Amino acid sequence: MNKEKTISVGILANEKVEFQLLNNFQIEETKTILTKETYLASLNNNKVSVYSKGMLVAEAFEVVLAPISDNGTFILEQVTIGIDFHWEQQEVQQFSGALKLVQEENKVRAINLVGIEKYLQSVVSSEMSPHASLEFLKAHAVISRSWVLAQIQKKKKPAKPNKKTPASQDEHIIWYDSEGHNLFDVCADDHCQRYQGISKISSEKAIEAVVQTKGEVLAFNGEICDTRFSKCCGGLSENFENVWEPTYYPYLSKVVDSEYGNTTCVDLRKEKEAEQWITSKPYAFCNTDDPAILPQMLPGFDQQTTDFYRWQVVYSQKEIASIIKKKSAIDFGEVIKLEAIKRGHSARIIKLKIIGTNKEMIIGKELEIRKWLSESHLYSSAFVVDYLDFENNVPQKFVLTGAGWGHGVGLCQIGAAAMGEKGYSYKEILNHYFQRAEIENYFKLKISGSEH
Ligand SMILES: [Zn+2]
Ligand SMILES: [Zn+2]
Repeated sequence: MNKEKTISVGILANEKVEFQLLNNFQIEETKTILTKETYLASLNNNKVSVYSKGMLVAEAFEVVLAPISDNGTFILEQVTIGIDFHWEQQEVQQFSGALKLVQEENKVRAINLVGIEKYLQSVVSSEMSPHASLEFLKAHAVISRSWVLAQIQKKKKPAKPNKKTPASQDEHIIWYDSEGHNLFDVCADDHCQRYQGISKISSEKAIEAVVQTKGEVLAFNGEICDTRFSKCCGGLSENFENVWEPTYYPYLSKVVDSEYGNTTCVDLRKEKEAEQWITSKPYAFCNTDDPAILPQMLPGFDQQTTDFYRWQVVYSQKEIASIIKKKSAIDFGEVIKLEAIKRGHSARIIKLKIIGTNKEMIIGKELEIRKWLSESHLYSSAFVVDYLDFENNVPQKFVLTGAGWGHGVGLCQIGAAAMGEKGYSYKEILNHYFQRAEIENYFKLKISGSEH
């Protein structure tokens, strides 16, 4: 009872994996002891072969090296971080727990088997700034813990569609949910949660946030919540089913992001109300220009961007037509109108009609809209459009005024950081964004152990 859960984190996959043991480790299968030394693993007839100074010391379909003592650590060379981002780079990283080596296609996959609390200390340190308030970090620790355990739980259930293929030529409604992993629970990159081993556990506050919330998760009906979060909701949070597959989760439903809660009777699904909401700057936790809050969000956060609560993007006819053509591979001709057909509770557009001189089409959901209307991603799909400079009834200028940053479901990071600064406790922060969810200890919940 109350045994800490071990999770498996996929760190890297290379043809050759070089690692260094900093203490004695034991091979689980053969009980062979491997001493403090540098080793090289490669594939040989579909088996993982481990060499030390050219001598073969282990060979099996999977090799698990467990530390003999609790403080055993190992080093992995050439860990790539920030895959596909402009800051992609290779690092040497240090880990505690066990090292598992398995075949993944024609590579050796290195997996770290680590206690969840240790894992979270690294995640909270890597993802959050040490300047954040302790209560905000504690809220994030609970969310990260819930998220990773929900991923493990999800694997045991029949797979839900993570994508919908478009049904017709006139309608293109699609959503993306991140795909899970087969050989391990979570990866170490931003696809799951950024985990950079124990060398990155630098912030005392992050450790404290994890320790003080040990084992705590958000649960609903006895199940661990799939805790989503995004940067800025824009004043109201969005429902899960408006962004991903059509399943209603009571704890991932509309929240008015202020202490006045649902006394604010706005229905942003109505076009008029959405327009009024987006073109004004109503009070909300995430409506802040407090310079103490923004740097809390992410280390190295781009602080040039402070207009996340309300933003504006201006396109010429030429620009918008070419972006849509490039992103959709469809020639709409000149763009005449971008019409919101259906909005969610946060005013995010779920179905958008693009009317061009050549073609009309309805697209969705929010991420697809954001992709089609920007070289990278539009901040959010909660926007209204002003059409200017008409020539032959075709607007030559489009002004998009929008609200929020990201999908807007679950916790609003900027709002939560602001709540932390205002003195709210982590429980109050979590109860605010995940209404109807309870904070429970996962030891008390029925989740089966992961099989590693
Ligand atoms: Zn992943
Ligand atoms: Zn918000």
